[in-house]
Amino acid sequence: MTSIYGQAAVSAESPEGEETIYLVRRVPARAAEWQAVSCTKPDGTEYRVSESPAGVWSCSCPAATVGQHRGGRWRKVGEQAVCKHVRAVLDWLLE
Ligand SMILES: [Zn+2]
Repeated sequence: MTSIYGQAAVSAESPEGEETIYLVRRVPARAAEWQAVSCTKPDGTEYRVSESPAGVWSCSCPAATVGQHRGGRWRKVGEQAVCKHVRAVLDWLLE
C-alpha cells in the first residue's frame, strides 16, 4: 500500500497521463450510502467517493457529477463506468 506521512494514499492517472497522489481515508457514510471514502489531492481539493446500498459508486468530482469525463477515459467497475477516483479507491479497498 502507498502511504504519505503514514496516511494511506492512492495514485490516479489523468487523461493526459499525469499521475496524482490522493490521500484516502474512510469517512462515515451518510443517508443512502453504504460506505464512503474521502480523497484529497495535494492542493487540498477533496472528493467524496461513495457506494450506495445497491452497489452503485459515485464521486463528487466534476467529471462524475456532470457525467462527462475529459478525454472520455472512464474506468469500469463491473458494468458501471466510473471516474479515476472511484477506480483508485476500489483498488485501495481491495488491497
Ligand atoms: Zn471522481
